[in-house]
Amino acid sequence: MPLTYDDWKRRAASLDADGRAWIAGRRCPAEGGATLDSINPMTAAPVAAIAACEAADVDRAVAAARTAFVAGDWARAEPGERRRVMLAIAGEIRAHTEELALLDSLESGKCITEALEDAEEAAVLFDWYGEVQDKAYDRVAPSPANVQATITHEPLGVVGAVVPWNYPLHNSAVKLAPALAAGNSLVLKPAEESSLSALRLAELCQAAGLPDGVLNVVPGHGHLAGDALGRHDDVDALGFTGSTEIGKRFMVYAGESNMKPVWLECGGKSPLLIFDDCPDLEAAVDAAVAGIFTHAGQVCSAHSRLLLQDGIHDAFLEALDARLVNLVPGDPLDPATRLGPLVSRAQFDKVRDYLAIGRDEATLRHGGEALTAAGGELFVAPTVFTGVTPAHRLFREEIFGPVLAVSRFAGEAEGVALANDSRYGLAASLWTRDLGRAHRLCDTLEAGTVTVNGVDAVSPQTPFGGTKESGIGRDYELAGMRKYMALKTRWIHY
Ligand code: NAD
Repeated sequence: MPLTYDDWKRRAASLDADGRAWIAGRRCPAEGGATLDSINPMTAAPVAAIAACEAADVDRAVAAARTAFVAGDWARAEPGERRRVMLAIAGEIRAHTEELALLDSLESGKCITEALEDAEEAAVLFDWYGEVQDKAYDRVAPSPANVQATITHEPLGVVGAVVPWNYPLHNSAVKLAPALAAGNSLVLKPAEESSLSALRLAELCQAAGLPDGVLNVVPGHGHLAGDALGRHDDVDALGFTGSTEIGKRFMVYAGESNMKPVWLECGGKSPLLIFDDCPDLEAAVDAAVAGIFTHAGQVCSAHSRLLLQDGIHDAFLEALDARLVNLVPGDPLDPATRLGPLVSRAQFDKVRDYLAIGRDEATLRHGGEALTAAGGELFVAPTVFTGVTPAHRLFREEIFGPVLAVSRFAGEAEGVALANDSRYGLAASLWTRDLGRAHRLCDTLEAGTVTVNGVDAVSPQTPFGGTKESGIGRDYELAGMRKYMALKTRWIHY
């Protein structure tokens, strides 16, 4: 039976979460004893004291990861054994779904129903990579007689992973599952705001049979623990998800240390184009709402730019207005809530600044104000600005809040030009009946993923990531695993 609002509140009230780091298969405080509080954005109360790891802790975690890698119990495990453990991790996540979802909801303000979905998606990633790693064959190259040339993939060694707060468990799984499947050891640095589910996941991995030291989790401040991991000379690759600004720093860290490859999943300002021949207006409006207001807009691929062709512009906005009346904020622990608070006071202030900017630049059509709900203060009404042009900051900058910028266009070429007028290139979506146009735009839209007659499609079976300043490399699918492997060429003369 699904838990009720009262059930969730009871569980939250009795929560006693462990915020200590996880190094070499054991919980431990930060060496210097420092902690930071993670804060429930709904109540402003601390959720847990989190170990504030620094360079010395990162050193210990990297050393534990290296020792485990060299020992080879995971790196050189039979593929069948690796599959068994990966599937067991998926099983552990499913057995603890409610516990993990509660941690994410309390720390990030994520609606509990979405947090439950995230936990299932995290389990699916361990299933998928567990299954794929022993079915991904290598190659034999054409070669002269008496010579064999093979091209194989091998684990890189120690992988560092740094993730943001918006999908705490899920983003951790997006890094861990492929890198572990490839045979690496890892050191994971979760976000300051939301470390608990990653720490708990590490315990569950151990329970599933992952050897000690293969996975280590060092929570703490970005400029201390994150910096130390990024600059570490014994880290062989770094997978980062977060803002473009910090992603660029990781390129510097790599350049100033051991030239480790850095894989970056960064920000976005994704366009949703609606053409006059949209095949289903109501479904497209639902997609637009989900595209920007899920998790209060705090989603990297949020479709925060709505580009409407002239002929459908007015009807689309009227249908959108009707949807937004029903999108009311509430306590994220209430399974009925679809709009939670922003993650922190800082994020709330940033989004409120953009509301003021939007009022100056464009026309406010809906929302545009801060709200309170169920005693919580960090809510922003679902907001729509119309008349937005490329000259506006609303058009260009990632807000990471429930704010939709609407622009209009006359013809296809203008729509594409507007869509591509961005430093970002994470995702793009469009609605049209015209199959030729659908294919043309799949070619010409500058984005890692283009979705036609839907919004923001994602699955483990397809690569996800950005072009331009949205990042480097891809998560998900085989590409997500291969980037944590080195190609080895062998020439054997016989
Ligand atoms: P952020 O860049 O501020 O932080 C991300 C991580 O980097 C955190 O763990 C943080 O502690 C760490 N960090 C911060 N400063 C650091 C520093 N100086 N050195 C090393 N590490 C540091 O991002 P955020 O605010 O947590 O998350 C929001 C951003 O993440 C948005 O821009 C969003 O688009 C992006 N994001 C991208 C994807 C994707 O797949 N492309 C997914 C989710 C979020």
